[in-house]
Amino acid sequence: MTNDLRFPARSYDFTPYVPCNNWIGGEWTPSAAGDSLPVDNPRHGKSFGQVTMSGAADVARAVEAARAAFPGWRDTPIKERVQVLFRLKSLLERDLEELAWLVSHENGKVIGEARADVLKGIECLEYGISLQNMVAGEQLDVSRGINCSITYEPLGVCAGIVPFNFPVMVPLWMLPQALVSGNTFILKPSEVVPYGAMKLADLLREAGLPAGVFNTVNGGQAAVEAIADHPDIKAVGFVGSTRVARAVYSRSAAAGKRALCLGGAKNHLLVVPDADLELTSTTVVASAYGCAGQRCMAASLMIAVGDVDPIIDAIVAHARKLRLGEDMGPVIHGGAVERISNYIADAERRGAKVLLDGRGAKGPGGVGHWVGPTILDHVKPDMPAGCEEIFGPVLSIVRARTVDEALAIENASAYGNAASIFTQSGAVARYCVERFEAGMCGVNIGVPVPREPFSFGGWNQSLFGAGDLTGWDGLRFWTRARKLTTRWQLSKDATWMS
Ligand code: NAD
Repeated sequence: MTNDLRFPARSYDFTPYVPCNNWIGGEWTPSAAGDSLPVDNPRHGKSFGQVTMSGAADVARAVEAARAAFPGWRDTPIKERVQVLFRLKSLLERDLEELAWLVSHENGKVIGEARADVLKGIECLEYGISLQNMVAGEQLDVSRGINCSITYEPLGVCAGIVPFNFPVMVPLWMLPQALVSGNTFILKPSEVVPYGAMKLADLLREAGLPAGVFNTVNGGQAAVEAIADHPDIKAVGFVGSTRVARAVYSRSAAAGKRALCLGGAKNHLLVVPDADLELTSTTVVASAYGCAGQRCMAASLMIAVGDVDPIIDAIVAHARKLRLGEDMGPVIHGGAVERISNYIADAERRGAKVLLDGRGAKGPGGVGHWVGPTILDHVKPDMPAGCEEIFGPVLSIVRARTVDEALAIENASAYGNAASIFTQSGAVARYCVERFEAGMCGVNIGVPVPREPFSFGGWNQSLFGAGDLTGWDGLRFWTRARKLTTRWQLSKDATWMS
């Protein structure tokens, strides 16, 4: 199977897919050991596909293919490299519906959210395409007849390891900058949602990318560790939970490669009494329950400063109206249902008030992995629901008397992905933004994801490494700077030998 991979689904109905193998050197191949895992549709709770599970031998094969393809791709002028990505953009647009349904089937997102996953991926791709006009390099005559310049050179074989929550967008946080700058690439998709990457590989083939420039290796921990250890992989980009981000960062660095590892989050929204009731309540609900709370930028902890009870009442009213299966999808698997339900039960035991309880919720047909929108009030910052990442549709509310008290709670978080302030006062907004311990801040914004060309990345335990993963920082991460000093023109006072 090498041509025109088509995924037939165009509705939420259950549809079986072809097995998902590795894409190595322009061929679909099962792992050397022949192991595989079922892939489940979270909405139905049934397996609809199969993913091959790889180990060190498969990673070694992919590295061999990527190494062989590197000289040809490196020597292809950037203006020709971007033509492949221009064609990829057209193909992603052509197949937008197919990709969106595919993402919905493997991840559970409702179709609008799944389309957004692909569209945001396309936006990241557009940034990569524009780099052809931005990476001309820098040069200066630093003294008579002497010129210094910097050019951004590819590293060689690079790798990306991605999570389950955005099967198309997160790979496209890495691929454009890495490929445009002349690297070859190995992607390790999440074994829970491997089909988005399978389709991407097929579209890159159709776009004319030479075999071996982009490869996929499916699997879990064994494949990731083999990538971190492999001496011929020069850089690793990782997106996932903090526990794994920290481990991949240390292991890759120990093997002498550069790594940038984005981890988990606990995002804080501060709501003060002058916040606009309608804007705040609808925005907080969209942030907390979009993608069933499975976004690293989701609102998970709201700090209610002073009396904001009318806003909390409106949040509960809006959240109660969300229709499972239409406005909000399932969570990724049965293990997630259990983990999220345990957090809710634990918070209740410790004295939190459950204003809205999503435990035991049923989706369409009574099948699949569901938790309904949940709101916990009077959570304490040191309860697990107050400081740990739940990664589900649960909004924890902590009460604070002052903005400074709220900021102290936000600042004490181990994470630092996002923080937002909801207020109509410019002074309060500025005071908070200047003090947040978070890489991505918002004012009256529930999901403060910077759009391209602004780069994406958190602080503290939400990111290990230097710089951000997207935007200009992405180019810097996937390249090394060559500094050149030249003297071609002899100045009048120079001798032949000088
Ligand atoms: P995860 O950490 O479980 O998995 C991420 C990747 O690591 C997957 O490819 C997986 O196969 C691999 N992996 C899992 N366990 C491993 C192990 N022990 N050793 C080596 N590799 C391992 O994350 P997930 O559940 O797929 O995704 C959800 C997490 O990702 C959340 O914590 C979320 O906040 C985070 N996330 C962060 C960002 C960000 O930009 N900071 C973006 C999206 C998701």
